Amino acid sequence: MGLFNKFSDQISGVGKNISNSTQQFVNETKIQASIREKKNTINEALLNLGKAYYTAHADDKDSEFAGTIEAIRSEYKSIDELKRQLSGVRGKTICPKCGAEIDKDVAFCPKCGANLAEAAKAEKEKETAAPEAETPADAPKEETAAADETKAAEAPAGGEKPQE
Ligand SMILES: [Zn+2]
Repeated sequence: MGLFNKFSDQISGVGKNISNSTQQFVNETKIQASIREKKNTINEALLNLGKAYYTAHADDKDSEFAGTIEAIRSEYKSIDELKRQLSGVRGKTICPKCGAEIDKDVAFCPKCGANLAEAAKAEKEKETAAPEAETPADAPKEETAAADETKAAEAPAGGEKPQE
């Protein structure tokens, strides 16, 4: 019967190895999940730090990250342009004052109340007066782009309708 005992020892040995490696796998997975969680927390904090820095130094030409800030600014501009294109595709337009997407044929922006006929006129005059002043280094438009999220979050659902 010696042979049988040896055989069953081997079997239970295999079982032990399997459960050991399963336990090891579970432990590894747990630790890796913890590491991932910590990294996510760090990344979120770094993101907030970066956003705070960007906001504080957006106009700081001497910032040691001026290049990165400029790159972000440029991407914000591209997003603005893409949003305009998107509105065009949807048959809508963008309020030049608050950046809200609005119907093309309204006289006043339903969000901020801007007089759109006047705004369009001013825009046209600006274009004809200075065609190459399209991207001045410190155009006030960036603020709109950067504050876009905040504004969208703050904006009341159904803004007041301006009188005609
Ligand atoms: Zn508006």
